[in-house]
Amino acid sequence: MADCLFCKIISGEIPSKKVFENDKVYAFYDIAPQAPVHVVIVPKTHIESANEITKENSSAVADIYEAIPEIARILGVEKSGYRIVNNCGKDAGQTVFHIHFHLLAGCVGGKMY
Ligand code: AMP
Ligand code: ZN
Repeated sequence: MADCLFCKIISGEIPSKKVFENDKVYAFYDIAPQAPVHVVIVPKTHIESANEITKENSSAVADIYEAIPEIARILGVEKSGYRIVNNCGKDAGQTVFHIHFHLLAGCVGGKMY
């Protein structure tokens, strides 16, 4: 996607602080961290949001969740714990319309539900 910030980060056109990469997934430090550890995890394929997940492209979500344990180990939070957040759409505060999952750790606080 020509005009997508995260596609540009994945391609290297916009710099980022990489945490993890494989052929399907890219993870990088959030530019405005909301927790002591705040990483954004994206599929390399452009999908706008959770609303666009289908039977055909849902493997992109599995690819993310398969990478999460390794990303947590790299960050050293696999034992202390972390929260995975996906914001979908305006009311959830989604600002970048390339589906992504926030990994938040450090002092995330209590449950949100
Ligand atoms: P959301 O608000 O859920 O759409 O998440 C988008 C996230 O991308 C926000 O937490 C931003 O701080 C983060 N962000 C925006 N631009 C960049 C960038 N250039 N590098 C790293 N993170 C970014
Ligand atoms: Zn994109």
